Amino acid sequence: MTQYVYRFGGGVSDGKGLSKELLGGKGANLDGMASIGLPVPPGFTISTPMCTRYYEEGEKFPPELNAEVASGIAHIEGVTGKKFGDASDPLLVSVRSGARVSMPGMMDTVLNLGLNDATVVGLATVSGDARFAWDSYRRFVQMYADVVLGLDHGAFEEALEIAKEDKGYYLDTEMESEDWQALVAKYLALVEELWGKPFPQDVHDQLWGAVGAVFGSWQSERAKVYRRINSIPHDWGTAVNVQAMVFGNMGDTSATGVAFTRDPATGERAYYGEYLINAQGEDVVAGIRTPQYLTTAARERAKAKPLSMQESMPVVYAELAKVFDLLEAHYRDMQDIEFTVERGKLWMLQTRSGKRTAKAALKIAVDMAAEGLITKDEAVMRVDPSALDQLLHPTLDPKAKRDVIVKGLPASPGAASGIAVFDSDTAEKRADKGQSVILVRTETSPEDIHGMHAAKGILTARGGMTSHAAVVARGMGRPCVSGAGSLSIDAAAKVARVGSREIREGDMLTLDGSTGEVMAGEVATIQPELSGDFGTLMVWADGSRRMKVRANAETPADAKVARDFGAEGIGLCRTEHMFFDAGRITAVREMILAEDEKGRRVALAKLLPEQRADFVGLFEVMAGLPVTIRLLDPPLHEFMPHAEADFEDVAKATGLTVDMLKRRAAELHEFNPMLGHRGCRLGVTYPEIYEMQARAIFEAACDLAVSPIPEVMVPLVATKRELELMKAVIDRTAEAVFAERGKRIDYLVGTMIELPRAALKAGEIAEVGAFFSFGTNDLTQTTLGVSRDDAARFLGVYVDQGIYERDPFVSLDIDGVGELVQIAADRGRATRPDIKLGICGEHGGDPASIAFCEKVGLDYVSASPYRVPIARLAAAQAALATG
Ligand code: PEP
Ligand code: MG
Repeated sequence: MTQYVYRFGGGVSDGKGLSKELLGGKGANLDGMASIGLPVPPGFTISTPMCTRYYEEGEKFPPELNAEVASGIAHIEGVTGKKFGDASDPLLVSVRSGARVSMPGMMDTVLNLGLNDATVVGLATVSGDARFAWDSYRRFVQMYADVVLGLDHGAFEEALEIAKEDKGYYLDTEMESEDWQALVAKYLALVEELWGKPFPQDVHDQLWGAVGAVFGSWQSERAKVYRRINSIPHDWGTAVNVQAMVFGNMGDTSATGVAFTRDPATGERAYYGEYLINAQGEDVVAGIRTPQYLTTAARERAKAKPLSMQESMPVVYAELAKVFDLLEAHYRDMQDIEFTVERGKLWMLQTRSGKRTAKAALKIAVDMAAEGLITKDEAVMRVDPSALDQLLHPTLDPKAKRDVIVKGLPASPGAASGIAVFDSDTAEKRADKGQSVILVRTETSPEDIHGMHAAKGILTARGGMTSHAAVVARGMGRPCVSGAGSLSIDAAAKVARVGSREIREGDMLTLDGSTGEVMAGEVATIQPELSGDFGTLMVWADGSRRMKVRANAETPADAKVARDFGAEGIGLCRTEHMFFDAGRITAVREMILAEDEKGRRVALAKLLPEQRADFVGLFEVMAGLPVTIRLLDPPLHEFMPHAEADFEDVAKATGLTVDMLKRRAAELHEFNPMLGHRGCRLGVTYPEIYEMQARAIFEAACDLAVSPIPEVMVPLVATKRELELMKAVIDRTAEAVFAERGKRIDYLVGTMIELPRAALKAGEIAEVGAFFSFGTNDLTQTTLGVSRDDAARFLGVYVDQGIYERDPFVSLDIDGVGELVQIAADRGRATRPDIKLGICGEHGGDPASIAFCEKVGLDYVSASPYRVPIARLAAAQAALATG
């Protein structure tokens, strides 16, 4: 027969070594504490499969549970020497929920169960405290009526208020024993009136009612919502823990408290916590009274007067300190603990792994490995890679006030304040004068690069997580909030509006790129500090990592940041970003406006030395490492002027009329440029563009003493033929340069896989390309049929509805896009076993996607410079997890 009840305490531990899946988190840890001899009030756990069964049987208990629960109660009675329902010395129990993972405040609890009209008198006698006994009874009736009987708790609170008013009292603590007794009578009458039946006096009825209520709370609306938000399966069910009550409110030798075995904010190895004398657990949580410090050191640091527990209860404190050490040794992690002292006796009520800041996580992991408590590999597994973001960027001071105007997507982490400006030229001008600016745009285009570079932060009304603004901002390490849809921007009038509020040029704004919040005024920030622990953990991570980590970077400055963060090469250099430099945009436009190949070649000749200098800069920083350079990708119309003034400037520079320019711009205009004349389609139609870029690459490589390993990458390939044509251009150019320079260098030609057809035909494409780099931004866009730039309008709802678990532009859609990646990798390797495989879409910096890349066996991931440490840690964890 299946066992459903597991006893613990008093030397018993039925659930020893059993899982949280079976016993729930709370039950497993209560049993764990009992098994190492810690003082846990005796009790028993009804396992999670019973919750499932309870629902299967139409919210009824199977008959065989009776005997098991009876043996559980007998166990508690045996250990405490009290009897359940005994009028002279009654046993009281708590009934609490406990799912596999903590769902704070979502499910129900009943305390002081076992009190009735007879046992309350016995409790008053044995405790010698009638006030305490009647107060406990009224708390119980109130809680039971609310949680189990589902009666309106407002009626009970009102009765309490009236009782206090009648007496002229202000606080509950002023109520005397008789007052509580009178209130209990009122409460019992209220139950009968509202429920239609008298309050259950039979303690066993009380118990079954409470157990049913805890199981019932698993399906409460709030619990369901919580599970949906936190991706907790609905079929897990909860366990129920029934445990002898202990009381921290039995006078001045009693207390209750919460503690951490190490400081959860800094990670420092020092006990950290609070306690309250003569109080129940809820009093600490509810904040009605200000708790006192646990340790004297903490009290002195805070210059607080009330005695620490170390001072007021030295003997119990010493015992508690021992318990902390035993718990850390047992669980091998920092613990978050609840305890109660009943008349000088310490009881442990709960323990679990404590939540902590990123900084503390790092310090605790490294310290524990140094202490020999965990291995280095375990330390690597302990730190959430995404939490490193907190350490790499400035963050808002949590104590500072925030006046949030609007919320958008958290597109690039970090926090920044500055004055609002509405165009990139102004951003640059103001920044040159030493002002901090926030660039506010409806959306950004490559033309905004200089403004984005000058700005401390970027805010856009449109665009998702892989929109231009988001990608570029992450690369530059600038905080960015994108897709703030309720913001309407009138750039010409230099004003943005949200509801009745206005942001004008010069107004101070603060962005939190980690939450998506936009605030009025300047909010204080905290600068990141990278501790020695960070470096230590990274070295350990690198020791376990299989995949290489590269960076997406175009400029020597970004490449330098990436290298300092440990990048092992460039995985994606988007050459179009180099075309936008103020000094060369005119030549680029001349090239686009040229009527024929001859005209284009004249313009390209002007660009060649500039582009070559770009690569020299990049290759120098990345000396000896692979550098993947992607040939021009975006549609040409992106380079054309938009504003009237720009048309006039270009007209002057090119000798064309404004009208001619506008006609040409209209010709280049595309309705869906993302699927238009871009990527290798540019190279197929105008091979001289790729030829110039290839020449710049090879000349730069030949001119340097330390030769890099250029990997020339062709974007947006769908067919083998496209790559063949482009490879021919590249190889021909390479040979020409080598002949001119009298020197050869090694290089590779490969392709991005960013179209479904390319993934499917990867076997053929690998006959030509020596490497694949998965461009999962475009591959997501084209597989899902969802535009990267417009997705923000509806993707939030899609995630809320569980259609996609996470934004598929942030975390790879493993089921769909992932299958294409797997197919392409398999077919590519079948043709060319040593094919080099990498990923350079934004997913290359996302830990869940990196774990998938490890499974597929990619050779490297490439992420924006500030995400390189995150990728290093995530890649190490993925390797350790796959074994
Ligand atoms: C991609 O599509 O994933 C990619 C890296 O290229 P881009 O973002 O420049 O289109
Ligand atoms: Mg792409």
